[in-house]
Amino acid sequence: MPPVVDKELCTGCLECAEACQCDVYFGSARGEEARVTYPDECWHCNACVFVCPEGAIKLRIPLPMMVLYQERPDTGTRAP
Ligand code: SF4
Ligand code: SF4
Repeated sequence: MPPVVDKELCTGCLECAEACQCDVYFGSARGEEARVTYPDECWHCNACVFVCPEGAIKLRIPLPMMVLYQERPDTGTRAP
């Protein structure tokens, strides 16, 4: 499942967009909530979750991939 951005936490810094190699956040504007433009392009690398300074991104990892991931401690989100 694609990432979900908590708009209450997001500051629009765009660290997520810069980290994403798949243009999932394409078209997001600095200072505004990150936009998940191409959710189907996400391949669950978890880079955006790790770079987000606000812990604003939740990523739902597909069940078959969960064994390969470990949690980011402050968000409970799983990461490679
Ligand atoms: S998990 Fe990876 S591919 Fe998916 S949106 Fe985040 S950085 Fe992009
Ligand atoms: S890195 Fe986090 S705070 Fe920054 S734009 Fe992305 S979701 Fe928002």
